[in-house]
Amino acid sequence: MHPQARFAFRGPEILAPSSPAGGAASTAPAPWPDLPPPEGAELFPLAVGAALRAGLEGAVLAVPAETPAPAGYDWAPLRSFINAAREEHEWFPAARALALANWRAATRFCGRCGEPNGDKADESARLCPACGALQYPRLSPAVLALVRKGDTILLARNARAPVAGMQSILAGFVEPGETFEDCVAREVREEVGIEVANARYLGSQPWPFPDSFMVGFECDWVAGELAPDGVEIVEAGWYGPDAHPQLPGPGSLSRRLIERAFEEIRARSGTRAAAPETDPGAAP
Ligand SMILES: [Zn+2]
Repeated sequence: MHPQARFAFRGPEILAPSSPAGGAASTAPAPWPDLPPPEGAELFPLAVGAALRAGLEGAVLAVPAETPAPAGYDWAPLRSFINAAREEHEWFPAARALALANWRAATRFCGRCGEPNGDKADESARLCPACGALQYPRLSPAVLALVRKGDTILLARNARAPVAGMQSILAGFVEPGETFEDCVAREVREEVGIEVANARYLGSQPWPFPDSFMVGFECDWVAGELAPDGVEIVEAGWYGPDAHPQLPGPGSLSRRLIERAFEEIRARSGTRAAAPETDPGAAP
């Protein structure tokens, strides 16, 4: 017997009902149907111990690569569900499930003594039965840096952008020995050659591809001309709300930060444009 899995993953793909057209799968995840798990699959709880609370009940099934979807279902990228979700909290449990599946796949063996790992009973952690080494799920913090200059923001095209022509704000992993603010300044300098200041925290978001944790900041251009490094960033420019390249998918923190900045810029330029009408000398 096995408890029915609330989420099933094959790599970064999640099980979803087939769409009626037979094309892209539906954007809502589906529990694993009433079938035995495939050979080599792993079933684990979404949360144990004190972490087990409303919203985190249920089990996760991680199946080996190449496993076909059961009849009536498809494997769909979790990203498509994220892009379609109205509220980000709708996909956070699935994000946790994928992050745990990625982490479990990378920690089958103890990193200290090499023995097969076990699981701690009361929290999501690997416990080595041979040497007692304890390992918690890994998160890799990364900053998102939205750089502002007058009524424009910096958008850049990453060499590995998932969609051709898409541009976004800069991003980079935090390195040992630096703060988020240090990281913002360093990433911007390394990737496009400009100096920024006044990093301000705007929000965060789990991003389980495979274990990122995004922390969003806004900062101000201080000096320098844009000079993309040509390796990570192949194109960069200053854009306003009315003319800009294709943006990252809805659902991402980058998109949310960009929309927020554009709204502020629009409101500000609207105020300026409207200013003459509120002139006390004008009619009524
Ligand atoms: Zn060990």
